[in-house]
Amino acid sequence: MPIKIASGKPLKEISTLQIGGAARFFTVVKTSHEAVKALLFSKKYKVPFLVVGKGSNCLFDDRGFNGLVILNKIDYCDLSSNIAKVGSGFSFSLLGSRVSKKGLTGLEFASGIPATVGGAVFMNAGANGQETFDVLKTVTFLTEEGKLMQLSKNELQYSYRFSSFQKMKGMIIEATFELSRSLQAKDMQNTIISYRMKTQPYNEKSAGCIFRNPNDTSAAQLIDQSNLKGMAVGDACVSLKHANFLINKNNASAKDMKILIEKVKKQVEEKTGIKLQEEIRFIPYE
Ligand SMILES: Cc1cc2nc3c(=O)[nH]c(=O)nc-3n(C[C@H](O)[C@H](O)[C@H](O)COP(=O)(O)OP(=O)(O)OC[C@H]3O[C@@H](n4cnc5c(N)ncnc54)[C@H](O)[C@@H]3O)c2cc1C
Repeated sequence: MPIKIASGKPLKEISTLQIGGAARFFTVVKTSHEAVKALLFSKKYKVPFLVVGKGSNCLFDDRGFNGLVILNKIDYCDLSSNIAKVGSGFSFSLLGSRVSKKGLTGLEFASGIPATVGGAVFMNAGANGQETFDVLKTVTFLTEEGKLMQLSKNELQYSYRFSSFQKMKGMIIEATFELSRSLQAKDMQNTIISYRMKTQPYNEKSAGCIFRNPNDTSAAQLIDQSNLKGMAVGDACVSLKHANFLINKNNASAKDMKILIEKVKKQVEEKTGIKLQEEIRFIPYE
């Protein structure tokens, strides 16, 4: 069966910031076979492709994306003993709460992060002293030529919010995680989720933390110290609740958000001498 390719999908509908123009081509994949077909479409018609999970770390361009956007819905989760084998489109938050409930530690921090497993591996997402690669065992990766390959963690590079996948062209299809038993896992997960709800603007349109934490310090603290909470450009605004969350109050454009990001960087550097770097990924039109 051929996959369905649509055109003109508004990317704001698949972004937690709810910003972005339309995709020239758009498809949803539910299996690795469909993912292969999507990548082959991109190759055949010579258009770039972009894999999107929950769009919780993407700032799409106001003009959209001049290529094929592949929305990842490969979402199974098999848990056997202390090993979780998970489709890359599975909810990372649900994975975190599911394993914690079973008394398995390592992914408590995932609960409350509105990501897919693929996006979390790509970004090496982390919080509360834990990160994705701590418990990652293997990844099944689809190359842009449409070949599946199995990679183990020791074949990959990773560091704070970085993984080798950021330099590779293709799609993460599946990940396995090796967890350990802990009687505290469920309690720890509950503590993490209530702290998130208290300290982060959960009901606002955001992409989580916009800036990486510089060495030994918190970007939120630097922005707060620079008195930038509430600063706005159009509908793009520095959250009053968490200074590293830049929110879309209603109808912000990507341009508004980018100008706000630059203003925050400039003012933080003037005030503290520290140059912030973006954690969010800008997705250009071309
Ligand atoms: C409220 C909120 C709280 C957050 N809290 C945290 C936090 O505590 N810690 C943290 O690290 N992040 C946090 N984030 C940011 C975000 O959730 C993470 O960066 C997450 O890893 C992005 O996952 P995603 O599936 O949404 O990826 P997307 O935003 O869809 O994509 C991000 C990048 O990954 C690539 N990608 C996604 N899936 C695949 C795949 N299967 N194969 C290849 N490439 C892929 C995309 O092309 C893109 O370049 C938060 C965001 C929000 C909105």
